Formats: sequence, C-alpha cells, structure tokens
Amino acid sequence: MNESDNLRNSLIRISIHVPKVCEKCGAPSPEYKGVGEYKCTECGFVMYDDFGIVRNYLEEHRGATQSEVSRATGVPMETIRQFLREERLEVAAGSGVMLSCELCRAPIRSGRYCEACAKKVAMQEAAAKSAQKKNSVSGFGLGKAGESGARRFRR
Ligand SMILES: [Zn+2]
Ligand SMILES: [Zn+2]
Repeated sequence: MNESDNLRNSLIRISIHVPKVCEKCGAPSPEYKGVGEYKCTECGFVMYDDFGIVRNYLEEHRGATQSEVSRATGVPMETIRQFLREERLEVAAGSGVMLSCELCRAPIRSGRYCEACAKKVAMQEAAAKSAQKKNSVSGFGLGKAGESGARRFRR
C-alpha cells in the first residue's frame, strides 16, 4: 500500500441510482428535497434515489435483512452496505440484525466493525503505517526523491 493506492481506494465509490429526469413527464433536473427524495419541477411527480428507496422500505419494514431489502427494492446489497458503512442508515434498535462486524460477525448497527474489532483494526493500521515508514526510509535514495519532486512540479 502506498500513497496512490490509498488515494485510489478512497475514490472508489459505488455509484447509486439518482433520477436525472422526471420518470413521469421526462422534464430534466428534478428538484432535490432531501433524504433521497426528488420532485419534478414540471408535474410534481415525486421520485427517489437508491438511498430514498432503501430508507422508505426500511421505514415500513423495520428489521428487514440486507438481502430482503435488496430483493424488495432492487438496490444492490453492496449499495445498501455502503449506506450502512457511511452511517447514513442505521439499523433500528431492537430490529433484526442487518449488519455484522466484518471480522468477528458480531451484530452491529452501523459502520464496518464492532467496537472491539474497530480498536484492533486501528492498532493494526497504526502498526502497518510505522512499518511502511521504515520501508520507505530503507528504500530512500536521491534518484527517488528527485523523481517524486519532478512529478509534483508537473502537476
Ligand atoms: Zn414531471
Ligand atoms: Zn468484531
């Protein structure tokens, strides 16, 4: 993992479906009303993006699992998981488990890891970072420094 890998990973985002034109009359640029809801400025038709669709479904089906939501709404599981990871969606307290820790599978309400694993991951990341620093020091040379300097300048 180097700096550009980190950058690339942070840029990978799952694209979600967003209404660009009115699904009823075809007028462009529906007005965004918030929480995934859009309204046509011409005919007033209300539409939802993936987030709005999932949110609406969960409001009526508290406790639905990820696969149930995905099947019922047609929104891919990966997209639903992304909303949970970004903590835009949170599983309602006392509802069926929708999300589990990526490491130990403990039930969690949002994010990617349970509290214990989140701590472990943070420690591992810190350790990996300091190991990375050591590597870059041993591989450090004048040529390399000049090259990255030149690249920075061109940009
Ligand atoms: Zn319309
Ligand atoms: Zn865990």
